[in-house]
Amino acid sequence: VSMVPVTVIGLGPMGRATTATLIRAGHPVTVWNRTAGRANSLAATVAPTPGAAVKAADLVLLSLTDYRAMYDILGPVADELSGKTLVNLSSDTPDESRTAAAWAADLGAGFLTGGIMVPAPAVGQPGAYAFYSGPQDLFRAHEPVLRLIGETRYLGADPGLAQLFYQAHLDVFLTALASLLHATALVTAAGVPAAEFLPDAMRTLTEIPDVVGSGQELAAALVAGEHPGDLSTARMMGATADHIVRTSAASGVDVELPNAVRSHYDRAIAAGLGSRNWTALYEVIKLKR
Ligand code: NDP
Repeated sequence: VSMVPVTVIGLGPMGRATTATLIRAGHPVTVWNRTAGRANSLAATVAPTPGAAVKAADLVLLSLTDYRAMYDILGPVADELSGKTLVNLSSDTPDESRTAAAWAADLGAGFLTGGIMVPAPAVGQPGAYAFYSGPQDLFRAHEPVLRLIGETRYLGADPGLAQLFYQAHLDVFLTALASLLHATALVTAAGVPAAEFLPDAMRTLTEIPDVVGSGQELAAALVAGEHPGDLSTARMMGATADHIVRTSAASGVDVELPNAVRSHYDRAIAAGLGSRNWTALYEVIKLKR
């Protein structure tokens, strides 16, 4: 890896972990963060302004809360961006990523969208990976640096793709996290200590693949629209979804999440899919309104 200089803008946990990873590999790194002081523990050069940060390297990584933050920071120094490559590792919508790529192109800058799929402590560690999309030649040119963050998964030229994959994975992740907290609230509302519940709840989470099968198997069933109702029918699962709502209501804990889940089953059953496998919910969920 040639030790090209890299600029990192945004020093939340992810930006700091990314900066530390690049420095460990020997890259000179310049950083800028809105709140000064977050660079304190890093062996990076602290740029006094966003303009100075952009001038310091041709490759500029952005690790921010959303794309609005990028415009807030780089909008005033847009004239400095010609010839630069921006790699935005921040979360937002696929459409925001596409708009940003067009914005960068107008300024003569290259743009890649990235989505890092591991938490900050895992950045740069074995097993870390990240999705990227945007022009393939640009991705290839910068891959040696990006590979330091984690294994790279290049998805294609559409800048929205990496963002789409990031959001889809976080859809699974955030919903599972919310369910874990909701279930814990249900148990503790009955006076049971969380510690008596959560260890087995973790098992329920990790055993989901045993129930669902491989991703390839689920994909094939969903694409084919085949939902043979042998074991876990929508009607049986829907009855349980209703029991969860009622138990939640009786316990006085929040009912929004179980209500949303029950509504999928209700609508699948109303559509005549009650005797099919629970995967038939996909037919209800994927509908465009
Ligand atoms: P944080 O939200 O903690 O950090 C965000 C950074 O954005 C900070 O440097 C903050 O500056 C800056 N910022 C936010 N708004 C503005 C603004 N309007 N103007 C200037 N600067 C702004 O995020 P993380 O470091 O946790 O994550 C960064 C990105 O990586 C996010 O998009 C997140 O979704 C993604 N990600 C996060 C993971 C995680 O586990 N944390 C895992 C994988 C991806 P300041 O310090 O001044 O507030």
